[in-house]
Amino acid sequence: MKIRYSYLAEQFKDPSEIFVQIKQLLTTGDFTLGAAVKEFEDKFAKLIGAKYAVGVGSGTDAIKLSLKAQGVGFGDEVITTANTFIATVGAIAELGAVTKFVDCNANYVMDTQQLKKTITKKTKAIVPVHFTGEPVEMDEVMHVANKYGIPVVEDACQSILSQYKGKACGTFGSCGAFSLHPLKNLNVWGDGGIIVSDDSRIESELRLLRNHGLKNRDEIERLGYNSRLDTIQALVGNWLITDAEEITEDRIANAAYYDKALSQIEQITLPPARAHVKRVYHIYMFKVAPMLRDKLHKYLIDNGIEAKVHYPIPLYLQQGLKHLKYKPGDFPQADLEAKSVISLPVDQHLTKSQLDYVIERIKEFLP
Ligand SMILES: *Cc1c(COP(=O)(O)O)cnc(C)c1O
Repeated sequence: MKIRYSYLAEQFKDPSEIFVQIKQLLTTGDFTLGAAVKEFEDKFAKLIGAKYAVGVGSGTDAIKLSLKAQGVGFGDEVITTANTFIATVGAIAELGAVTKFVDCNANYVMDTQQLKKTITKKTKAIVPVHFTGEPVEMDEVMHVANKYGIPVVEDACQSILSQYKGKACGTFGSCGAFSLHPLKNLNVWGDGGIIVSDDSRIESELRLLRNHGLKNRDEIERLGYNSRLDTIQALVGNWLITDAEEITEDRIANAAYYDKALSQIEQITLPPARAHVKRVYHIYMFKVAPMLRDKLHKYLIDNGIEAKVHYPIPLYLQQGLKHLKYKPGDFPQADLEAKSVISLPVDQHLTKSQLDYVIERIKEFLP
C-alpha cells in the first residue's frame, strides 16, 4: 500500500467550480486586490473570530508585515522558538532584526517558562509558533509580554482553527499570521497568507504595507512592499474555506486514531495531552528513542509510507543561521526532537484502512 504525504491531487480533483470563477475573473481583469480578496478576508476573519483580516503574499510575509506594522526594524531583537520552520526566522531577518530562540517543550512548542530570561532591552516582539498545530501556552506568553510591554505576533501558519482555552490561535497577540501555502491545512494554488487583528490601526497599516505604502493611486504614505494575496488564490480560498471546520475535525479524528494505537507501544512517546487546547494536527508527530528513529523512518518509507522528520537538523545549528552564534547544546529539547521525532500523514483524505496500514507497520517494527 502507498501512503503519500501530500494529498493535493485528491483535494483538487474536481476544480470545475473554481474554473468557472477564474474564467469570470478573466473578463474583469481584476487580478490584484479584486473583490474576491475582500470576500476571503471577511470570511477568514469570521472563521477565526477576529475583527479584521488582511490578505498578503505568503505566510512569511504575514509574519514580516505584522512585525513591521509594529515598528520592528534593523537591530531589534525578536524572540521565537528553537523548533520552527525557517520562514519564522526568515521573516524576522528580512526586517534586519535579530532572532533570539527559546527552547521548546515536550509539546514541541515554546517553553514559556524560559521566555522571560530571553528578554533584553532590545526585544521588540515575541513570535510564539503554534508548531504542528499545537497551541503555545498563550496565557503565559501574554503575561510576560504585557508585563514588559512587548507586542506579540503569533505564527499561526500551522494552526488554523487551533484553540487555546476556547479562543482561536492567532487572536491572542496583536496580530496572528497564517499561511495558505499548498501544504497547509487551508490551502490555495500557490503562495498566499493572511493576517488577523482586532486593532483597526494595525489593520490599516497592514493594508498600506502590503501595497507599496500607497494611500491611493497617487500618494505614498510610507515605504511598503509588494505583497498582496492574488485574486485567483482568493477564489480558491473562498471555495475551500467552507470546508475548513470539516478538514480540521477529520485531522483531529485521524490523530486520535493514531494516538489510541501508538500510546500502547512502549518505545513511542506522544506529546502530553492538554485538556485546555484544541490541536489541529497540521503535523502528527511522535518521538522514538534516537537509536531507533532513522531505522523506523526507513522502514516506513520502504513500506510505502511517506513519513517525514520535522526536522533532522535543529534550526539554531543550521549553516544559514551561523551568524546568530548559537552553539551545539544551547537548546537541549530542540536537539532531542531533531534526533527522535517522526511525522505521519494525518490529512483529511486518508482512509481508515490506510491509517490501519500505518499502525500495523509501526507495530511490526516495534513489537
Ligand atoms: C509555512 C510556515 C510559514 C511560512 O509560510 P509560507 O506561506 O510558506 O511563507 C511560517 N511559519 C511556519 C511555522 C510555517 O509552517
